[in-house]
Amino acid sequence: MPIYEYVCKDCKAHFEVLVSLTSGKTIKCEKCSSLDVKKTVSASSFRMAGSGSSIPSGALSGCSSKSGFS
Ligand SMILES: [Zn+2]
Repeated sequence: MPIYEYVCKDCKAHFEVLVSLTSGKTIKCEKCSSLDVKKTVSASSFRMAGSGSSIPSGALSGCSSKSGFS
């Protein structure tokens, strides 16, 4: 289950919310209960989204080292 990371624009706190809890629910800051929060990409959800991406980070570094050798 993906976890979305949010950052509060008021107190700059980072917190994570399970996506199942976010459906039809307002996201509030855990610290100051502000509604002015912004969704960011957390490490866990990025890994899941990365499965659909055709450019893994390993391919990028492998490519650059390869061109350096040849
Ligand atoms: Zn806050």
